[in-house]
Amino acid sequence: MAASIRLKSMLALVTGGGSGIGRAVCHRLSREGASVIVVDVNLQSANDTLQSLSRDLPGQQHAAFTADVSQSDSVRTLMEQIQSCFSAPPRVAINSAGITRDDFLLRLSEESFDSVLSINLKGPFLITQAVARAIVATGQNGGSIVNIGSIVGKVGNLGQCNYAASKAGIEGLTRTTAKELAKFGIRCNTVLPGFISTPMTDKVPQKVLDKFAGMVPLGRLGQPEDVADVCAFLASDDSRYITGASIEVTGGLHM
Ligand code: NAP
Repeated sequence: MAASIRLKSMLALVTGGGSGIGRAVCHRLSREGASVIVVDVNLQSANDTLQSLSRDLPGQQHAAFTADVSQSDSVRTLMEQIQSCFSAPPRVAINSAGITRDDFLLRLSEESFDSVLSINLKGPFLITQAVARAIVATGQNGGSIVNIGSIVGKVGNLGQCNYAASKAGIEGLTRTTAKELAKFGIRCNTVLPGFISTPMTDKVPQKVLDKFAGMVPLGRLGQPEDVADVCAFLASDDSRYITGASIEVTGGLHM
């Protein structure tokens, strides 16, 4: 089935675009006509995504940059690079960069707690702030920020108190930025995936994944495309009256 073209002439930035959900989002947005800025800490994987993007529409221009979303200097440099490549700032930003450093609370190191909070929570803060500032500076309203949270932020998960805290924090960040940025026509929403097959979940033993799949009412683990489709909807004008929302993409887990 041909994808709809809802994002023609839209410039979209996707963090974590070199892998998993972020890569699927880049593919989906480019098929919908967006020009995509692929951002990842790993430049090779960002470039691999860049090579695989759709270029079917005239004027579609994609780019890949390396950045560490947890570092303000790196995000500042990223925005300068974008400014030198494109005539206007991105109006869509999807924050998908994220990590896990799992361990039980009684053993979890301070370093593992800090690194997960820095990348998963401070990263979306820095990107949202930078993109929103750039949009506001144009004097022209309009934009959509989509943060990838997790169902784990709502329900918790053994061995993931750092990750669950970061993902719960994302929802508070998003609801607040939604309130503050509404007057600039910038919508902010969170997507809460359940268990999605990506390199992140490749670390989980197969028998554990099989157990999780058995708990999902729809009977399977999610695919990155299941999440990307919802991100494309939230990026597009089809979701024009939705802001501050959290949308679960879990196959019905934890309802
Ligand atoms: P993934 O395949 O590991 O992709 C994450 C990407 O982010 C990787 O390319 C990673 O690079 C990059 N990254 C890591 N640290 C970064 C940094 N400081 N700056 C920029 N990029 C960085 O994971 P995924 O499963 O697609 O996860 C995407 C998002 O969905 C994450 O926020 C995750 O928490 C969330 N999520 C995933 C699931 C799931 O089941 N997969 C469920 C709920 C939520 P490296 O590989 O080089 O580290």
